Amino acid sequence: MAITLDSKLGPVIGDKSAKPLTKAFGMETVGDLLRHYPRRYLEIGQLTPLSSLEVDQHVTIMAEVRALKQFPFGPGGRRTRTEVLVTDQTGEITLTFFTRVYGIKAGDVGLFSGVVGSFRGKLQLTHPQHDPIGDRLARGVVPIYPASAAAGSVFIEKCVALALDAVTDLPDPLPEGVRRERHYEDVAASLEAVHRPHSVAEGMAAKARFRFEEAFVMQTVLAQRRHRAAASTATARPPREGGLHDRFVEQLPFALTQGQQDIAETVGAELASSHPMHRLLQGEVGSGKTVVALLGMLQVVDAGGQAALLAPTEVLAAQHHRSISRMLGDLARSGMLGGAEGATRVRLLTGSMGSRARQETMLDLVTGAAGIVVGTHALLEDTVQFADLGLVVVDEQHRFGVEQRAALVDRYETRPHVLVMTATPIPRTVAMTVFGDLDVSVLSELPAGRQPIQTNVVPVADRPAWLERAWERVREEVGRGRQAYVVVSRIGDESAESDSPTRSLVELHEELRGGALHDLRLGVLHGRMTADDKDRTMSAFADGSIDVLVATTVVEVGVDVPNATVMVVMDAERFGISQLHQLRGRVGRGSETGLCLLVTGADADSPAAERLRAVASTTDGFELSQLDVAMRSEGDVLGTRQSGFRSSLRLLSVVRDEDVIAAARVAATAVVESDPDLVGVPALAAAVAALEETDSADYLERT
Ligand code: ADP
Ligand code: MG
Repeated sequence: MAITLDSKLGPVIGDKSAKPLTKAFGMETVGDLLRHYPRRYLEIGQLTPLSSLEVDQHVTIMAEVRALKQFPFGPGGRRTRTEVLVTDQTGEITLTFFTRVYGIKAGDVGLFSGVVGSFRGKLQLTHPQHDPIGDRLARGVVPIYPASAAAGSVFIEKCVALALDAVTDLPDPLPEGVRRERHYEDVAASLEAVHRPHSVAEGMAAKARFRFEEAFVMQTVLAQRRHRAAASTATARPPREGGLHDRFVEQLPFALTQGQQDIAETVGAELASSHPMHRLLQGEVGSGKTVVALLGMLQVVDAGGQAALLAPTEVLAAQHHRSISRMLGDLARSGMLGGAEGATRVRLLTGSMGSRARQETMLDLVTGAAGIVVGTHALLEDTVQFADLGLVVVDEQHRFGVEQRAALVDRYETRPHVLVMTATPIPRTVAMTVFGDLDVSVLSELPAGRQPIQTNVVPVADRPAWLERAWERVREEVGRGRQAYVVVSRIGDESAESDSPTRSLVELHEELRGGALHDLRLGVLHGRMTADDKDRTMSAFADGSIDVLVATTVVEVGVDVPNATVMVVMDAERFGISQLHQLRGRVGRGSETGLCLLVTGADADSPAAERLRAVASTTDGFELSQLDVAMRSEGDVLGTRQSGFRSSLRLLSVVRDEDVIAAARVAATAVVESDPDLVGVPALAAAVAALEETDSADYLERT
């Protein structure tokens, strides 16, 4: 029977060899083994710099044997310990074997793998696996594999050789045209080159090909999604002169920024077409995305359709509902006292609403009386029926899965247009992968007159008195008629955390109420309050009857109270970079300079303090997001646990390989455009199907 990439490993390399590979790396098939690429290559003759070794590392070194000594040991001296002294010409390391050793003599160059230990202050490898250079001499290069103690690099190299010699049928996921254009060898030659190269350069080139291949297959999945979306139809919602949209623009109290105008125009044109819009609006915190979305919604209402705005939390949904109703004024008071002619209605729908209010909303949606509805995931339920849903706006996308977006969109024969808004700046690579099925608009400009937020780190470890100064600043701002947020990392009525060194909401609220802020009006806001309580508190803060809101990160996204000018973040080192950036975006939303104080007990020279200084040093969200990504792991970035061997990404880094991903995106889009169902490229079709099936496909979904 022909051996293919799908053949089980055992029969090909032997069960005894397959076992440690399965255990250490989860390998099951020949393909798993052949896609276990060398981490690097050693040139024969180039000895490993022994000074670079670190204790507890598993290493494979190439070194020359200087001397070999055998000593008797054990009861009666009946056993033999062998010490082999090897050198890289600059330093030495001792290899210790508790047996007699054959096949090694002074002057030999060999490969030795094992875990670096330290004995009497000197590095040594105990019982390393050793391997003469042997027939590798002809090629001049040794591959070094990601290895473990039970499956060392040399062992893997031998297993790979067996598999490479046995495998026959090798379909190539890269279409010939793509290979030719990029000067890549076919998959058979490339596997040979990556595992048994004749030069380091040859091995690296083959690795580059496989890195591209990973990006290419992933981008093909996304290109197919885009293609399918574009092939479906939506109802065109052309603008209507003198409609709600135009009247709203006339009464806007401010001028739109150039960026807002440009994107509003793009969105307006896409809504007017019968292709479904599928756009990501990525905007700096406070850049005014909501107005842009609202313009789109009004165009849809003008054309006789309805728009739904999906918010990630009840607090945000309620706030959006309030602010959209306020901005629209009498344009949103259809059938009510003072309602303008041709007005519409804006409704709210959340899970915790009473059944009466819910019924009212549902009725207005099914009859079409409400042109706009704002809600949480409660909007996604099957029972929610629209008269004519034309546009879905998703705010703060990272909290929603693509499936959830689809739940609202795919229900209809003609798809609603979709606009996704996110305030978390996303590095381009992530936009091309996680959000790869969306077109992207970026709103980077802030409205004119917006003062930059000033951020200071308050290191209470060195200077406890500075915390007093922070509360003084809060009092000063409130004295000037402004408001403040105090953000804490935990709520604090849970006993399990009672010995935490951080300040809880409950503790801090008590402390401030009895002390530094005793004569100010304090409110608290956290996720475990009932929706009604949250809503009441937010309304009170918004209308100025609360001076200082002590809150958890429920205020992180989207909360918009322009009169709030100062934020104190307690235990700031507990928060991530992007999260802090989001948080401080809550102040400085009006024409006043916002001030954000990051209180931390972290040591000045700790990485945590360094992170906080980075946040303080720039207000550029994109710069911070790059920094954030660089400090996080791939799995974090993709929002899913990358359990190593199950992952389809072996070589590609979503963080570093922007160029590769961009090139793959272009190539994949071209292939899909000329052959959407991949009938002419069955090997690619199979790779795409496999990717969509594996666990790792859900990182594409789970955003
Ligand atoms: P975000 O992009 O963070 O969601 P919002 O849409 O909430 O930002 O807008 C932030 C604040 O700026 C709101 O109070 C909004 O009314 C105001 N705003 C939006 N666009 C402009 C503009 N062009 N000029 C002045 N203020 C604006
Ligand atoms: Mg917003």
